[in-house]
Amino acid sequence: MSSAVEGAPAVLARVPSGMHINGEWVAALDGEEFETLDPATGRVIARVPRARAGDVARAVAAAREAFDGGRWGESVSARDRARILHRMSDLVRERRDELVEIEILDCGKPLADARGDIDEVAFMFEYYAGWATKIAGDIPPVGTDALSLVVREPVGVCGLIVPWNYPMLMAAQKVAPALATGCTVVLKPAEQTPLTALCMAAIAEEAGLPAGVLNVVTGFGVEAGEPMLTDERVDKISFTGSLAVGRHIQRTCADQLKRVTLELGGKSPNIIFGDAPLDDAIVGSAAGIFGNQGEVCSAGSRIFVHSSVYDRVLEGMVAEAGAIRLGSGLDESTTMGPLVSARQRDRVMAYVDGAPADGARHVFSGAMPESDEFADGFFVAPSVFEVPDHSPAIAREEIFGPVATVLRFDEVEEVVRLANQTEYGLAAAIWTRDINLALNTARRVRAGVVWINDSQPAPSESLWGGYKQSGVGRELGPYALDAYLETKQIYVNLGG
Ligand code: ADP
Repeated sequence: MSSAVEGAPAVLARVPSGMHINGEWVAALDGEEFETLDPATGRVIARVPRARAGDVARAVAAAREAFDGGRWGESVSARDRARILHRMSDLVRERRDELVEIEILDCGKPLADARGDIDEVAFMFEYYAGWATKIAGDIPPVGTDALSLVVREPVGVCGLIVPWNYPMLMAAQKVAPALATGCTVVLKPAEQTPLTALCMAAIAEEAGLPAGVLNVVTGFGVEAGEPMLTDERVDKISFTGSLAVGRHIQRTCADQLKRVTLELGGKSPNIIFGDAPLDDAIVGSAAGIFGNQGEVCSAGSRIFVHSSVYDRVLEGMVAEAGAIRLGSGLDESTTMGPLVSARQRDRVMAYVDGAPADGARHVFSGAMPESDEFADGFFVAPSVFEVPDHSPAIAREEIFGPVATVLRFDEVEEVVRLANQTEYGLAAAIWTRDINLALNTARRVRAGVVWINDSQPAPSESLWGGYKQSGVGRELGPYALDAYLETKQIYVNLGG
C-alpha cells in the first residue's frame, strides 16, 4: 500500500501509506486525508492522513513512552545509536534515485538541487552517527574533597516542525542530531511536502530504530503542529519556517518554558565590491537568489553593487536570469522548477506586480515554460529589479521567490549600514579580492553566516543560524547537539 493516487508516477508507490506512530503505519483517527500536488503540473499525486490533536497526542505519547521506557536515550548505548544512524545513512544512499524523484514530485526543485539535498541527508545521518559516541561531559576542579561531574543528557521528546523548501534535508537536519543525542521525536513535515518524511520513517524502521523513537505526523500547521506546542509531554520544539509562525511558537512555548530552536527568514545582503572577481560574483550572486527558485531562507535577495561595476553586474544578472530554463524538475535540462504551491506563486507575483508602483524598476523577467503540460504548474519567471533604496517592499520583505533587487553603493560605511538595515540577520555574501575588506566587512555584518566570494554553501559539519529575528539557537555541526541536550551537575562529597 502507498499514499500515491491512481495514475501517479510509479516511484510514488515507494511512499508508505499512512503516517508513522509508535512503529505502525496508521490513518488519522477520524480517517481524514489531504492531497499533495505535483507543483509542475498542479495534479494530485498522493493522499496522506490529516492529523489533528488526537493523532498528535498519540504520537507524543509514543515518543514519551519510548524515551521514559528506555527504548532510546540513555538506555541504548551510544554505539548502538550510532550503528542505526549509519544504517539510515546507507539506506538513504541506496534509495537516492527514488528519494530524489519523490522530492521533486512533491516540491518541484530541479534534479541537481534534489540530488544535492538527498546526498546531504545521507551525509547528515553519517555525520551525527559519528557524534553519538563523542558526546562527553566534564569534570571541573571544585576542591580536594569533592568531585563535580558535568554530564550531558538528552532533552527528551522533541517536536520537529519543518518547511517545504528542502523537505527531507530540513527534517534530517533536526532528526539526525536529535536521535544522536538520544532524544525521541515527533516530526511534522510541511503540509505541501509530506512524502519524503514518510520515507524517512520507513528507512528508520528498516534500520532498526525502535518503535516510537521517530514518529511522523502529516497535517497542517494549526491542526498538527500547534498541539505539540502546548503538550506538556513535549520537552523541546525545533522549528524552521516563517518569522510570523516562529514568533507564535516562541510565545506559546513560553507558557511551559519549553526549549525552542527557531530557524526563520532572511533578507540577506549580497555585497559586490569594485574589485570583486566579477564573473564569479555575477554567477554566484545569481545562483544565490535564483537557486531553488529563490525559495531559500538565506537567499541573497538584496544585491548591493559598487558604482564602478554596477552596469556590468546588472547586465550580467540579466544574462544569468535569461539563461534560466523553467520546467519540470525531473527534466535534466531544467534549471528552475515551479514554486511549491499556487498560494506561494500568487504571493510572489503580488510582490512582482506591485513593485513598479512602489518605486522599483523592473529590468528583466525571464521566460515561462512553453509546453502546455505545465499550463497549470506554479511557475514564476526569474525577475531582476533595480531599487533606489529600501523603500520598495520587495527590497525589505522576504519574498521566497526568484526576485532579485539590485542597489548601487559607493562607500563601505554606506553598504555596511544598508546590509544591516533589516530585522533579519541570517546570512550575507561578500565579493572582493581584498582580504582585509572581506574580513572587516564580514565582522561588521550582523548575520549568523557570512560567505566570502561564494553564496549559499551550508556544509553540515559547520554552523547555521540567524542573528536578530532570523532565529534562536544554532543548527548543523556540533552546535546542533546543544539544542538536544540538557547539562547536569552531579556533585560527590568525597570528604565524608
Ligand atoms: P510558510 O509560510 O513558508 O508555509 P510556515 O512557517 O507557515 O511557512 O510553515 C512552516 C512549518 O510550520 C510547516 O510545517 C507548517 O505546517 C508549520 N506551522 C504553521 N503554523 C503553525 C502553528 N501555528 N503551529 C505549529 N506549526 C505551524
